[in-house]
Formats: sequence, C-alpha cells, structure tokens
Amino acid sequence: MPRTHISKSHTRIYYLLLYLYNLLILRPIHYLLLLHKRHILQFQPVTYHCPPPSKLCLSQLRKLPIKTLVLDLDETLIHSQHNCIIPYDFSINVKIDGIPTQFYVYKRPHLDFFLKMVSEWYYVVLFTASLETYANAIATQIDPTQKYIKKRYFRHNCSVDFTGYTKDLKIIQKDLSRIFIIDNSPTAYKGNPDNAIPIKSWYADNNDQCLLELLPILDALRFTKDVRSVLKRNIHLHSLW
Ligand SMILES: [Mg+2]
Repeated sequence: MPRTHISKSHTRIYYLLLYLYNLLILRPIHYLLLLHKRHILQFQPVTYHCPPPSKLCLSQLRKLPIKTLVLDLDETLIHSQHNCIIPYDFSINVKIDGIPTQFYVYKRPHLDFFLKMVSEWYYVVLFTASLETYANAIATQIDPTQKYIKKRYFRHNCSVDFTGYTKDLKIIQKDLSRIFIIDNSPTAYKGNPDNAIPIKSWYADNNDQCLLELLPILDALRFTKDVRSVLKRNIHLHSLW
C-alpha cells in the first residue's frame, strides 16, 4: 500500500487557505450579522405614552420657568473607542494634541428618541469633561442643527482637582431650583448632588434601556417648583454606578 505523504508545503497551503477563509468569508459574515442586529435593535418601534397634560397641570406648568436639563456625553449618551471591533454608528477624525485621531462612536440605545422627547420638555445642554474638538464633532453628528441640544460646554468649563473634573451647574443656570444633570460620573456633579440623576455607565450593551427608563421621571420633574425637592431623595444611588 502506498504511503500518504503530506509535505510541509502542503500543510502551509492548508493553513493559509484556512486563514483566508476565516478572514475573507467568516469575519465579514459575522460583521454583517452584528450590523444587522444593531439596525434591528436601533430602529425597533419605541414609544413613550405621553398623554396631554390636564388643564390643571398645564396651568401649573405655565407658572414655572422652563428648566434646564444638562446631559453628559461619554458613557452617558455615547461610547467611543479607537478600534472598530463591532459595527459603529459613525466615526470622527479629530486632532488631539496635533495628532489626527480616529474615533468610532456608538450611540446608546434609544438616544435619538430620548433627545426628541426631552427637548420638548426642557432646555437641553451638553456638558462634558471631554475636549472641545472631540465632543463638538460628536455632538454635531448626534444633533447637526442643534435642534435638541441648544448649547455645549466642554472640559475647559469644568473645574479640576485630584478627584477629576467637576461640572459647576451655576455657570449654566444660577437658579439651582431649575437645573439638573444626568451623568454617569458622581465626581462630575459632586458640587451639586441634589441636582443630579445618576445613570449607569454604558459601553456596548445593545439591550440597554436606561435612557428610556428615565423618561417617566423626566416627564414628571418639569412640574416641580424645585427639582432638588425630588432629586435629593436620589442621593443613596450616587455611589451605585
Ligand atoms: Mg461620562
């Protein structure tokens, strides 16, 4: 019986073909499946049932000045990274310390719907501890015409100490009864803990619903005279995230 002889060159060809099959066939298919899944999740019908306020509520609302909702950016509304392992929503190319840098950006699930809803209830501003060039590029992609987010504040508007960057809400609104912040970092609002709603840091979970879950409390807060009367009850949550 003749002996089967597999030379070293045949083995190399076999592994090369296997590698190419993985690179050119399996990986693109996996990527496309992930992309498809993200699209399905992102565009699934989302509703927040918001019946029109009663006459009493409307008259109460008219007596109150519009409140300001401050939104953090990174890990609250979006997550960005340098490499693109899973399909991203958009990318930006900005200069950081003079070096062109690419960021792949992922929007937290239901972000567009969230911004649309809260901008009907509040004067919405962005306050991030990130650099202006980076955050501006992202905010422009999220809300190109500033239809929802009316103003932007950046790292140079924060104060800094050994714990990190802190956001003083008084630079936006002197009357603290009508301003509050949603931020994943307790350090950011340590100067105004009674004006904060903590939110879990978001990185990649496609099933995250934190933004949706905030809508009922945000809907209700606009009817309060002083947001602190409600939010100071939240203080035990600040250390959980
Ligand atoms: Mg953050």
